[in-house]
Amino acid sequence: MSGAELFRAALFHTPRSPFREEGALRSYADGGLLVRNGRIVASGNFDDVRRADPDAAVVDWRGGMLLPGFVDAHVHYPQLPIIGRLGRTLLDWLQQVALPEEARMADQAYANERARRFVAALATHGTTTALVFGAHFAAATAALFEAAEETGLRVISGLVLSDRFLPPPLLQSVERAYRDSNELIRRFHGRGRLLYAVTPRFALSTSDAMLEMCQTLLREHEGLRTQSHVNESPDEIRMVAERFPWAADYVSVYDRFELTGAHAVLAHNVHTTGRELERLAATRTAIAHCPTSNAALGSGIFPLRRHLEAGVHVALGTDVGGGTGLGMLKEGLQAYLMQRVAADGAMLDASHLLYLSTLAGADAVGLAHEIGSLCPGKAADFVHLRPPAGSALETVLQHAEAPEDALAALFTLGGAESVREVRVEGSIVHELQSHQGS
Ligand SMILES: [Zn+2]
Repeated sequence: MSGAELFRAALFHTPRSPFREEGALRSYADGGLLVRNGRIVASGNFDDVRRADPDAAVVDWRGGMLLPGFVDAHVHYPQLPIIGRLGRTLLDWLQQVALPEEARMADQAYANERARRFVAALATHGTTTALVFGAHFAAATAALFEAAEETGLRVISGLVLSDRFLPPPLLQSVERAYRDSNELIRRFHGRGRLLYAVTPRFALSTSDAMLEMCQTLLREHEGLRTQSHVNESPDEIRMVAERFPWAADYVSVYDRFELTGAHAVLAHNVHTTGRELERLAATRTAIAHCPTSNAALGSGIFPLRRHLEAGVHVALGTDVGGGTGLGMLKEGLQAYLMQRVAADGAMLDASHLLYLSTLAGADAVGLAHEIGSLCPGKAADFVHLRPPAGSALETVLQHAEAPEDALAALFTLGGAESVREVRVEGSIVHELQSHQGS
């Protein structure tokens, strides 16, 4: 056998959920990942994998770590320039910071530049798949798909839909939204690694008629995903209740229009009821937990334990620009920290953080059969991590005694400066250019 590449590094992945199974973390101090034609052929101990194909070209990354590509289950592409505008709560931040920036996406040249930079920034952080809020403008949303296709990342996105509450430049008529969405679906859904997600911004900014139109799109096209926000801040929840007097709660608004289900990812769900959790579990709706955003906007502490006990699937999202950056390692650490200070927090370890950053996201966007772990048969989406020479992370890794300690240190101290190479289906989508050490 030839034409294959065999990557040699410390290897980590979670083929199953550590929330459901003991020993879900697989780690190999001297690991091997055999890749042929963009697919994973074998993974495990280097010597074992080597025997599967003795002629494979060895890529020697010893001293580094190899993980599945990260999956960001909730992020806004127009918001990269406004990361870090601190000191506001959700609705003030939207009005003062986020929505004015989103209005700039009407300028096509500006949107093209934002799209290129956003996709590149995902890759530099080791993110290979992302469920992304597009723009309120069809052309700017198309720019994101084009940039993703050019770079090779897996992007699931869609035109952001709103017909009330937001400033007029961000509103569409239902008819216009339907026409533009159909056109984008026709052009991009299922093209290469791209998928389309019907994207009502949130119930607050969408009428019954707009949500009904979303339902129509989902019925008219095979394989679409849907994404929105739910139960992020108390003020938002109160206003949603006023605008949808017929709804028992926030989740019921989406439920009525079939915007819940295995195809759906709802971000946040910080302030939620037992009935809502039951309904989310019954419909297999995924929640994108965004802990840096929840902290930065003062939204609250995510009730992870209640979600797990109710059987609700939870993934992890950076929610840039409410979140504090595109790094899924940092987001994983923040999930851990928030649970530590929560009154009834879930105790997370490194295996949970890895799972939440990879396979949980793959599952949320309906791609668990294809990505999210390093199991044979899956696409070869992976990240090579190695800390800069002289960094604190390098020191900690040199002294780590157990694989779990090394992985926990990576989540605690790792960022884009440690992401050396990123591949999707075996092809390089990012290489760190100027780095110290090797
Ligand atoms: Zn968001």
